[in-house]
Amino acid sequence: LEEALRQSQKMEALGQLTGGVAHDFNNLLTAALANLHLLARHLPAEGQRFLGGVRTALERAEKLTRQLLSFSRQDAVNLTVIDLGDSLRGMGDLLERSIRADVALEWDIAPVPMAVAVDPVQLEMAVLNLVLNARDAMPGGGLIRIAAGPIGAAPLGAAMGPEPRTARIEVSDTGAGMPADVMARAFDPFFTTKGVGKGTGLGLSMVYGFARQSGGSATIDSRPGEGTRVRIDLPLSDVQPAEPVLVPQAPATDLR
Ligand code: ADP
Repeated sequence: LEEALRQSQKMEALGQLTGGVAHDFNNLLTAALANLHLLARHLPAEGQRFLGGVRTALERAEKLTRQLLSFSRQDAVNLTVIDLGDSLRGMGDLLERSIRADVALEWDIAPVPMAVAVDPVQLEMAVLNLVLNARDAMPGGGLIRIAAGPIGAAPLGAAMGPEPRTARIEVSDTGAGMPADVMARAFDPFFTTKGVGKGTGLGLSMVYGFARQSGGSATIDSRPGEGTRVRIDLPLSDVQPAEPVLVPQAPATDLR
């Protein structure tokens, strides 16, 4: 418990700091890109290719600040009641496109209603980040399993039991796993072992932020040489999804 408290205090402080910086940066970048766009229209063709490089760099910076904002955002979340199973199934194509041919995706989504109040875009980004991490942890190929279901339900066959209050998402892989010191810091923003220019260290902190914003929690279980499992527990909502929810495609978040 003490560890969880320490972690959430650290995340809060870092969130406030990065949120402030990211917000200002985002405004500056938006202005820079808008001016670049204008400049491009007044420049002869031979100047255009230099602008291309500038634009690419600015766009990458914009993506990064957007990720930072989504990690640190505590207020402006757009909570919508959705069905978790439907949303995850709706991500099938996006996730298949994000992995390599030597990586297999296995699905195990409980065929029951699971209403959760989340920001649907954040949910998609969180699951995508977990799948990208799993892929990166399996350079020689392997298996990614995406599971979701209610937990705390009465065992099958029991006459009556407490209603499940929690839905659990699990993304597991058969990859490299994490040594204890990496696991201890994996949720920290900017912590990465992937090297400069490859990892941002924001994927798991975004996952952590998403879980907290949704009133849930995120945990990691990992064994070096065996694999990793990340769990997101979300409170089930009493409110039912208003209508079938179309989950918008998340912006490309793989900054590597
Ligand atoms: P990034 O992916 O940019 O490095 P993350 O916050 O997503 O940032 O992850 C932080 C670190 O946690 C990674 O650099 C990696 O060392 C470790 N990690 C995350 N997911 C996994 C995984 N599925 N298997 C092994 N290590 C992982």
